[in-house]
Amino acid sequence: MTVTWEESGWEQLAPGVGRCRLPVWDCTAGLVVGADGVLLVDAGSGPAEGARLRAEALALTGRRVTHLALTHPHFDHVLGSSAFADAEVFGAVGMETVLTARGRAELRADAVRYGLDAGVAQEAVDALVPPRHPVSGEWTLDLGPAGGRQVLLANVGPGHTAHDLAVLVPGSPEVVFCGDLVEESGEPQAGPDAVPSHWPAALDRLLELGGEDARYVPGHGAVVDAAFVRAQRDALAARFGVSD
Ligand SMILES: [Zn+2]
Repeated sequence: MTVTWEESGWEQLAPGVGRCRLPVWDCTAGLVVGADGVLLVDAGSGPAEGARLRAEALALTGRRVTHLALTHPHFDHVLGSSAFADAEVFGAVGMETVLTARGRAELRADAVRYGLDAGVAQEAVDALVPPRHPVSGEWTLDLGPAGGRQVLLANVGPGHTAHDLAVLVPGSPEVVFCGDLVEESGEPQAGPDAVPSHWPAALDRLLELGGEDARYVPGHGAVVDAAFVRAQRDALAARFGVSD
């Protein structure tokens, strides 16, 4: 027996497409449902959150998550990946190299700095499932029925990190999962791993993919429109001194 988006606390964005805002860090996780496959976008901040997303996806769709797209290697988006060891995992090319021993230590330290319990963070990085499918350029996923639910994974970065992956879901309306290239609930976070000089261009690519009428889903905050993304692009260009 499946539940509705509303009953499970998820926000429906288009037919068969939804997202939820996770607690504490307000990180978004997305879900795209096809006849043959179920795609989750980002995995939450630890094993418990990953398990929660897995259970909710099952309740919503009646099926397990078959594909996981990780938008970028930050703890609140990837540390729940251990709950999806049996899924096909995608990330921007090179992301897997960030998740080596040194990168995992940095992820753990970052998570603890943001308030995640140290034991939970250690457990999560030990069990982390890295992407097995590196995406350079674009990758089309067919979630079925044949040709009926195609999803585009696009390596649009660098920007927020060196490995930013966006997920475009065609339909009416079109939905673009932006990861943290776009934030609505606060200023876009630019940490030491950001590539500010390329960030505005990454947002230009997002706008090309989604066009004027898409719903743009930020990594943190409410769903926005193309005008918001364009304004954030201009603000980032000004903030980082990037000329057109
Ligand atoms: Zn981030």
